[in-house]
Amino acid sequence: MVDDLSTGHADAIPDGCKFVEADIASAAGELLAEQFDGVLHFAAKSLVGESMEQPQKYWQGNVVTSLRLLDAMREHGTPRLVFSSTAATYGEPESSPITEDLPTRPTNTYGATKLAIDHAITSYASAHGIGAVSLRYFNVAGAHGAFGERHAVETHLIPIVLQVALGQREQVQIFGEDWPTADGTCVRDYIHVTDLADAHLLALENATSGQHRIYNLGNGTGFSVKQVIDTCREVTGHPIPAQVAPRRAGDPATLVASSQRARAELGWQPQRADLGVIVGDAWEFTRARHAS
Ligand code: UDP
Repeated sequence: MVDDLSTGHADAIPDGCKFVEADIASAAGELLAEQFDGVLHFAAKSLVGESMEQPQKYWQGNVVTSLRLLDAMREHGTPRLVFSSTAATYGEPESSPITEDLPTRPTNTYGATKLAIDHAITSYASAHGIGAVSLRYFNVAGAHGAFGERHAVETHLIPIVLQVALGQREQVQIFGEDWPTADGTCVRDYIHVTDLADAHLLALENATSGQHRIYNLGNGTGFSVKQVIDTCREVTGHPIPAQVAPRRAGDPATLVASSQRARAELGWQPQRADLGVIVGDAWEFTRARHAS
């Protein structure tokens, strides 16, 4: 496992895992010389708002770094790649749920950088025989035991709402109530982190030399910001005050996945699809961390 720990946590590295603290932009060549069966490439800057304010962090940190990794894979003949792509590559979709063949027109810099990497992967896979799979994550949430969302500055909806329930914040801000959705707030497709993890193993097993396959990963059901807050109220028993605030730059109104392709071709079957279960696991993690 390689991480520069710029946003990751050393205490989240599993026992027995060989760990190298490094930036893959400079270290990939040397690291891959060891000869690996495949690479799972998760490392990225991933905040929509930040990507609009500091695009250089995203073009350098995501695109340039990933090109270095692809070059190192080519140089050392690493055969397989699973890449963390994103729903943000689609932008504002023209139909919903989103299938993989819809046009990709990202509305924010984060999505644009991930899409650029997807294009590079397609070329490298075809020219150099790499078996590549991009998994387009929708809104990853939930937790697995002691592993959950832990950001120095939290920007994601569910952890923020749970911080209100814990008493660490007074209220949650709803970024816009005038979106073209049923209740006026943005709709997203929340997927449990353990279901996402399962998809990575299936993707690695199914990667085929010379091909770059793309799969959306979500549950196929959209929940509005208000519905998420309501679910958090039910799970935590806390009233969770909410206040409407301006829209956040770069947000599409609705992002809901069709995961039919992942189900059909990879045999992927989400086990923890219910939003109450997803929030429940995140809440258990949040409370346990707060208590320790
Ligand atoms: N959101 C919100 N208030 C917050 C954080 C997020 O209303 O404090 C909204 C955000 O505008 C988006 C949805 O919640 O529509 C999910 O945002 P998040 O940052 O969790 O994930 P993203 O969809 O950006 O990947």
